[in-house]
Amino acid sequence: MPDKHKVFIQKNTFTSTQKNIEINVLRLDVMSAIISGNKFFKLQLPIATALAEGYGTVATFGGAYSNHIVATAGYCKLKGLKSIGFIRGEEPAIWSKTMKDAQELGMEFRFVTRAVYKDKAAIQKTWQHEQYYWVNEGGYGKLGAEGVKDMYEWIDESYTHIMCALGTGTMMAGLIKGALPHQKVIGISVLKGHGTLQDQVKGLLTESEKLKQYYLVQGYHFGGYAKHPERLINWMNKLYEHQQLPSDIVYTSKLFFAVEDLLQKGYFEAGSKIMVIHSGGLQGNSSLAEGVLQF
Ligand SMILES: *Cc1c(COP(=O)(O)O)cnc(C)c1O
Repeated sequence: MPDKHKVFIQKNTFTSTQKNIEINVLRLDVMSAIISGNKFFKLQLPIATALAEGYGTVATFGGAYSNHIVATAGYCKLKGLKSIGFIRGEEPAIWSKTMKDAQELGMEFRFVTRAVYKDKAAIQKTWQHEQYYWVNEGGYGKLGAEGVKDMYEWIDESYTHIMCALGTGTMMAGLIKGALPHQKVIGISVLKGHGTLQDQVKGLLTESEKLKQYYLVQGYHFGGYAKHPERLINWMNKLYEHQQLPSDIVYTSKLFFAVEDLLQKGYFEAGSKIMVIHSGGLQGNSSLAEGVLQF
């Protein structure tokens, strides 16, 4: 079970000599390795809804290394629900650690070709006789974003900036929902083409929430989603060595790199107090060969 009591704030993680700027990291990664970081917050209301409405099975979508897939499997098991994962691509000859973990947590898989996977609505229609409670890919949705507001349990009004990584944009939308008028929410995209990301975030906000201060920052994708060139790996090892901060190759390493880079470029005004969300996802590093990371 994810344990909120383990969450802590890692103080003064990135230090700037020029200015009076404080950067702290909200360590949500320590709550659970399975229902990790932001996935706990995003799943809590959808799963509660499935239970309240009497569903017995939750179905969702993801890739073979998806944090969302294994988190959904773990959360459903915890609540006595069955779970089905619609996995992108043909069944691989060798299953990823993520899939093995999800299977051990009771998840059943249906493998769908990349072409079919693109049309989620069609998949849902094909399976509608099964009465599944559907959770969007990556947990995208308003219920997910509502649950993310709980992160403000650790973020008080003294913070001027809240920073997070963006996949579907649900976590960022939740952080915007919970932000006070003077707080800026900064999302770092880990996708190459930002395409519909801005719209995805907006789609989860009310008209008044859209007027809040939030910024989407591009250019820190390191080649694209889940791409992890050597200079990213080196950065991750350095970050761990100097600041005892473990990160994952898909989201948080790129977020932390952006924080450091923006800090050095003078992006933040003097007096800023910044909370960076460590949204978990360390299990995603299991796709790397052993020894590549020093943690
Ligand atoms: C899923 C995930 C994200 C992306 O969250 P969205 O709400 O989809 O934007 C960020 N960080 C980690 C570690 C994740 O697992």
